Amino acid sequence: VFVCFEGGEGSGKSTQSRRLREALEADGHTVLLTFEPGDTPVGRTLREIVLSPETGELSDRTESLLYAADKAEHVDTVVRPALDRGEVVVTDRYVDSALAYQGAGRALDVAEVEQVMRWATGDLRPHLTVVLDLEPDAGLGRFEGRDRIEGESLEFHQRVREAFQRMAAAAPDHYLVVDARLPVDEIAGQVLDRVRPLLDR
Ligand code: C5P
Repeated sequence: VFVCFEGGEGSGKSTQSRRLREALEADGHTVLLTFEPGDTPVGRTLREIVLSPETGELSDRTESLLYAADKAEHVDTVVRPALDRGEVVVTDRYVDSALAYQGAGRALDVAEVEQVMRWATGDLRPHLTVVLDLEPDAGLGRFEGRDRIEGESLEFHQRVREAFQRMAAAAPDHYLVVDARLPVDEIAGQVLDRVRPLLDR
């Protein structure tokens, strides 16, 4: 079973993905917790290139292809092998981040970005995507523009948020949207309630 966490900056994805791993491990499952971009050796270099402020301006399509390369490496060497071993895979960001940031955020054609990302991932799709929904103002308050993306305009981050909301609304069976301002325990409980039935099948 493959579960993704998505959401804007400061929405609590890493906290919640850790909480889900702990809860599922306590239930007796083997869980692989991973993230994008950057959770492979080549991914670390790609992450550094796309996010370092020193990179400066990057062509939108170049940025998309670097993220696509990170995904290809991540799926082929980390995610699929773990799923093949029968493990539960929980990832902090996946394809929807590319559709939201590179598609909606950069104003590239979302359908085209989707084709690239589907190819990069061999069309591996999650059973469930949890969207931690948060107003960009609130989330960005937790950072000080340490990377290129955090320094983008509020409108950029608003487009990203709306893209996540739209994807979730279009496929409610595959998404759970949670208000990221709720208490951490409350969110973790809602996520677990939605994930547990997937594992009992
Ligand atoms: O989730 P994490 O904070 O590790 O993401 C690192 C940065 O990469 C964030 O600023 C995020 O917005 C950005 N990002 C992006 N496009 C993606 C994935 C992440 O701009 N496809």
